[in-house]
Amino acid sequence: MSMLIPDTVRSLGVCAELVNYEDGAETGMVTKEWAVSMIRRYKMSYVGPLDEAVRARLHALGPEFRPLFDMKEGQLADWANATVRKLRIYPQIVTHDDLGWHIHYFEADTPLVDRIRGSTAMAAMDVVQRGEARRLRVCTAVDCDNVFLDTTRNLSKVFCDPASCGNRMHGMRFRQRNRVREQQGPTQ
Ligand SMILES: [Zn+2]
Ligand SMILES: [Zn+2]
Repeated sequence: MSMLIPDTVRSLGVCAELVNYEDGAETGMVTKEWAVSMIRRYKMSYVGPLDEAVRARLHALGPEFRPLFDMKEGQLADWANATVRKLRIYPQIVTHDDLGWHIHYFEADTPLVDRIRGSTAMAAMDVVQRGEARRLRVCTAVDCDNVFLDTTRNLSKVFCDPASCGNRMHGMRFRQRNRVREQQGPTQ
């Protein structure tokens, strides 16, 4: 595990999932099932509506957040500062589910997208402060632009998902090597 606190990892996990969300091209929104599952998986305390308007705003967070994964430290800091200022955040330390004490950067009636914006901005501040901004990464596999938070100790994660992109690139390199060998012909 990295130096990052669990809440930063959680918040940036949500952020990356929104960027990587792929099923909204036609509808312009995330599905209700996906939204429910995200809230459950990340143990979000949100109990407000998940109607079409809310789910369209969630979907729009993807393109809004994507640039964060290409930003230099200073740009990420500027983005986080501007976002926090716009949201007028008042941190509250709380505990719910089995998360233990953690900080909410939203009120009970804050819309879901603004909760996520606030948590993402504070998580961005955390990675900048710790000198870990380069942990926000884009997958290096061909034909994949998924983003992820690299939580490995030595910054060794290069694929969004080792099981899919990692294996695919491994197979591709293997075939390339064989092709080169065939072109060179049998060695004497
Ligand atoms: Zn919470
Ligand atoms: Zn990938």
